[in-house]
Amino acid sequence: MAKPRGNILFDSERCKGCGMCLAVCPEKILYLDENVSNSKGYHPAQISDYSRCTGCCSCALICPDVVITVERLAA
Ligand code: SF4
Ligand code: SF4
Repeated sequence: MAKPRGNILFDSERCKGCGMCLAVCPEKILYLDENVSNSKGYHPAQISDYSRCTGCCSCALICPDVVITVERLAA
């Protein structure tokens, strides 16, 4: 298994489930967690496979609600 390059943190209460982060993730490892609803009633974004995250930050940059923080990990 590849070593993860990024650690993703979600401020899930801020997420509006717009899906923009899913669309831009080159690894297609983000999804909306339909088993969870935040206090606004949205299904928040989640990551399915940390090991495949490249730490590219595309998800954090596109998010209009500043939900995602990417910690870039040393190679
Ligand atoms: S940092 Fe890049 S690879 Fe990792 S979840 Fe976000 S968009 Fe995907
Ligand atoms: S994390 Fe941001 S871009 Fe992704 S679904 Fe939630 S609000 Fe939209």
